[in-house]
Amino acid sequence: MRGKIIRGVGGFYYIHPESAAADVLIECKAKGIFRNRNIKPLVGDNVEFEMLDEQAGTGNITEILPRRNALIRPASANVDQAVVVFALSFPKPNLNLLDRFLLMMQTQDIPVIICFNKSDDQEEEETKRIVSQYRDCGARVLVTSTINGTGMEELRELLEGRTTVMAGPSGVGKSSVMNILFPEAQMETGEISRKIKRGRHTTRHTELFCIGSQTYIMDTPGFTSLRLPELEKEELRNYYPEFAEPSQECRFLGCVHINEPDCGVKNALERQEISRDRYDNYKQFYEELRQQKKY
Ligand code: ZN
Repeated sequence: MRGKIIRGVGGFYYIHPESAAADVLIECKAKGIFRNRNIKPLVGDNVEFEMLDEQAGTGNITEILPRRNALIRPASANVDQAVVVFALSFPKPNLNLLDRFLLMMQTQDIPVIICFNKSDDQEEEETKRIVSQYRDCGARVLVTSTINGTGMEELRELLEGRTTVMAGPSGVGKSSVMNILFPEAQMETGEISRKIKRGRHTTRHTELFCIGSQTYIMDTPGFTSLRLPELEKEELRNYYPEFAEPSQECRFLGCVHINEPDCGVKNALERQEISRDRYDNYKQFYEELRQQKKY
């Protein structure tokens, strides 16, 4: 039988069998062969498993099918994309945190959809100003509101048939977005919790929810800070697609666009063709990576 690991805790893996109802889960152990081969099953892994006890819903994982990708943060396999929710106001978007998130995903080759939420609570001009800074950042940008439904249909379509990591700082309305998109998921979440007797105080683990045919979302805890991914400081500029064109005018090959004279990126910044916030964050990250290297 085939299925997908949707949760792993304490040596048990919970498998959602292929084409089973969303709330069917089989509690499996991974057989010793994986330990010998030094493979650890990940949430999101597609696996083959055998049933041990039909009644109790227990089984054994016998094979991990080839992975399309494996993420370190959050630890998971076969993720198609990430949706990161930020509020346009209340709280005011922390763009430094957003840029860190983009780097974290871009360095792992995961496409990102930025969801600027609570558009009903922000002036149109200010919304445009914030959105325009991310026009050329390599991520798709959506403006949404759970109050008047702006952007919700578009977001729903982007999630269909894919496995998506849902992320965002606390208080940005991520849960409201998810509840509007998938009202049935909320119920299933409770269902799942009861089945595996998750205590209120246990640590939260990475977990997938099946919300439709071949459609999974992975909710992640709200974050307040993010470490930069492990990068050489000289590599950082490669993750700024908006630097690519202007950097062709840089006088020096290998220009990192900070202190060099005749820098195309800094010229573009002067002409306001590149976002000042994005550039300032870039400079800060560059310095952070430089400091890290020292120790
Ligand atoms: Zn330059």
